[in-house]
Amino acid sequence: MKFKSNPYLLVLFLPVIFIFLIRISHAKSNKAENIVLILVDGYRWQELFRGAEHDLLLSKKYNSGDSLERVNKYWDDDLTARRKKLMPFTWNYISEHGQLYGNRDLGNFVNVKNPYWISYPGRAEVLSGSVDSAINSNSYPNNTDMNVLEFLNGQNGYRDKVVTFACWGATGRCLNKENSRMLISVPWENIPGNNLTEAETLANEIQHYAPKTFGEDERLDFEVYALAKSYIKSKHPKVIYIDFGDPDEYAHSGKYKNYLDDIHNLDEMIGKLWKMMQADDFYKEKTAFFIVPDHGRGSGDQWTDHGSSVEHSNETWFMAMGPGIPAKGEMKMKTQIFQDQYAKTIAGLLGFDYTAPKPVGEAIESVKK
Ligand SMILES: [Zn+2]
Repeated sequence: MKFKSNPYLLVLFLPVIFIFLIRISHAKSNKAENIVLILVDGYRWQELFRGAEHDLLLSKKYNSGDSLERVNKYWDDDLTARRKKLMPFTWNYISEHGQLYGNRDLGNFVNVKNPYWISYPGRAEVLSGSVDSAINSNSYPNNTDMNVLEFLNGQNGYRDKVVTFACWGATGRCLNKENSRMLISVPWENIPGNNLTEAETLANEIQHYAPKTFGEDERLDFEVYALAKSYIKSKHPKVIYIDFGDPDEYAHSGKYKNYLDDIHNLDEMIGKLWKMMQADDFYKEKTAFFIVPDHGRGSGDQWTDHGSSVEHSNETWFMAMGPGIPAKGEMKMKTQIFQDQYAKTIAGLLGFDYTAPKPVGEAIESVKK
């Protein structure tokens, strides 16, 4: 062929080859290969979008200690500055690089679809992508409905790379742990295996020394964080479900400052996890975060509670960030999303079409477009 021996022709084709290569790399970086699903039990959209609530922050009923310290830490008259004080990573970084849904002040509505507005049914809805009305309490036994984690664990390249670190024993039942091959870590299980890193060994150890503040069946969020982070760093799972629970517990006990402190810490932990994964070639620019609660809470004095008898506690939010998720920031369009739509959306980010024996909520189009 003449082409081979003619260097001028090659020069002519170089721009075409260059554009082709850019397209390939662009396409590659535009789809997530890994996903971290983070659940924050019972955290309200009100604090996420409005920051600390004035009356609750000053309330003597819901706080002990120095109100000046609380006000300095979490209050600002300006709403934008106030929510940034409470959740700096969310409002400095996710809002620049991802999407935030559920600000009802803007008409952007996210709701629980199941009729119970409590934790087990909420998790079941998030994970299975459907509402099973039989799942009506937190003491429900094994949930045998298909869930998106089990579905992903069955896909090529994802086998045995889907893991869960949960604060709560019920999360294990919700994922049918007893009959699953996936690693589903619930209190007080250690990261299994013999060749553990120092960080994994330490995470395993400290959970047994931490106080059982919320009872025998619940690990504190920092323990879940230590287990998940050390495991991710050493084992490189591709789908990670991290299940946090302290905000719900502090709210039930009517401790507003603790509720705020915990979400402030979780925001920082999520930021540090993101940073660690972006510094790791295995995850860098190939990993999406999807952050959700399981239900909302009431307003006014009912902020402590949730459930079908507590008005507004079916109002929620979610955030998403990573490849394939355009940076749109705080979503301002009037819309209605339900949490049974997350499962199909999450699988779709990885390029899979999640279906289950029961009808599954539609993928949320605006997350990808
Ligand atoms: Zn609760």
